Amino acid sequence: MSNTRQPAIFVSHGSPTLPLERGPAVDFLRQLGGALGRPESILIVSAHWDTDRPAVSAAEKPETIYDFYGFPPELYRLRYPAPGAPTLAKRAASLLESGGLRTDIDPARGLDHGAWTSLFLMYPEADIPVTQLSIQSHLGPGHHVRLGEALKPLRNEGVMIFASGGATHNLGELRFHRGNPVPQAWTVEFNEWLADAVLSRRADDLVNYRERAPYAVRNHPTDEHLIPLFVALGAGGPDGVPQRLHTSISSGVISMDAYRFD
Ligand code: ZN
Repeated sequence: MSNTRQPAIFVSHGSPTLPLERGPAVDFLRQLGGALGRPESILIVSAHWDTDRPAVSAAEKPETIYDFYGFPPELYRLRYPAPGAPTLAKRAASLLESGGLRTDIDPARGLDHGAWTSLFLMYPEADIPVTQLSIQSHLGPGHHVRLGEALKPLRNEGVMIFASGGATHNLGELRFHRGNPVPQAWTVEFNEWLADAVLSRRADDLVNYRERAPYAVRNHPTDEHLIPLFVALGAGGPDGVPQRLHTSISSGVISMDAYRFD
């Protein structure tokens, strides 16, 4: 068990088939758990649980949710049977309420693929208790920075705040580039703008990325895959030192970048 201050992490989770794939992003995630060490528990926020207002899962045994269609049968045989963290869920809800954010406690919600495929690679023993927090994509980036700020004290309580989304996410363009893995210039340009803004802590530019970043809307036709980054940014705090842990681009247009906020 760890009493050391835990980081806030953002990873790009790519396709649901990530645990079955090979490549630099998979290699990165496989070593990440060992590199970060074991937190006492994990609060995960994924792009794939989107609710009207914040919700945390208090399930004792969160189910592995197969929230995707038409993938290879072996993917549906993978399980991530980590224990739930109902006490952490209640603590997170109380911090959010103290921050003025009304929060629901969901007694049954499991782990969607944005949550479990990353954890499957990072902590394959599936023995670290985990609770999931929902996003509210209709409330935009600033709201999620506030969520992260409210949850920041958890990092001193052995809790890793783990955000899983996508540094870029245009699945429409993916169709055209699947057979051509050359990184597209409009993806690289956005991805490098994002890295520079994160590493130089330009929070105002990040929150307003849709207006300020090059090719923002082309890389994110909708916001939800970048939204988890803002929770990690808020949980990292203004005094944090961000690091870019990984960069690679899959299928020409899908950035697999990851960041750490201390
Ligand atoms: Zn996703």
